[in-house]
Amino acid sequence: MRDLLEPLPDTLDRWEAAGRPPVFVEVREELTCWVVSTIEGHWAHVYECVPMARPRAVVDRLASPRGEAPDAALARAVARAEGARRRSIRPCADCGEPTPPEHGDRMDSGFCCHGCMSRNHGVVF
Ligand SMILES: [Zn+2]
Repeated sequence: MRDLLEPLPDTLDRWEAAGRPPVFVEVREELTCWVVSTIEGHWAHVYECVPMARPRAVVDRLASPRGEAPDAALARAVARAEGARRRSIRPCADCGEPTPPEHGDRMDSGFCCHGCMSRNHGVVF
């Protein structure tokens, strides 16, 4: 099995995208389960943010503990993962742009995107 923290390939063709701002949910099919992950930025270096899969759920493909169809359990897991990622994206306190947590930080005025931190608060990256 591929290391889950390994950077993803550049191609996005096997990814599912939904909503605005884009929330990427990856469903990887394993032998007996689906691994549901959200694609999030990870700072590999101070200058390079790479997309990585953050596993959110593992769904059994053969049987569901609640007795529901595996497809229904997968759909519920995808919706939960998407909702969790969407809730982590907050508006910047200065410019109001939806900002994922990896592209902002807490300042005195609230959560700010990196652009506003440089422009308005003198933070040097
Ligand atoms: Zn901003």
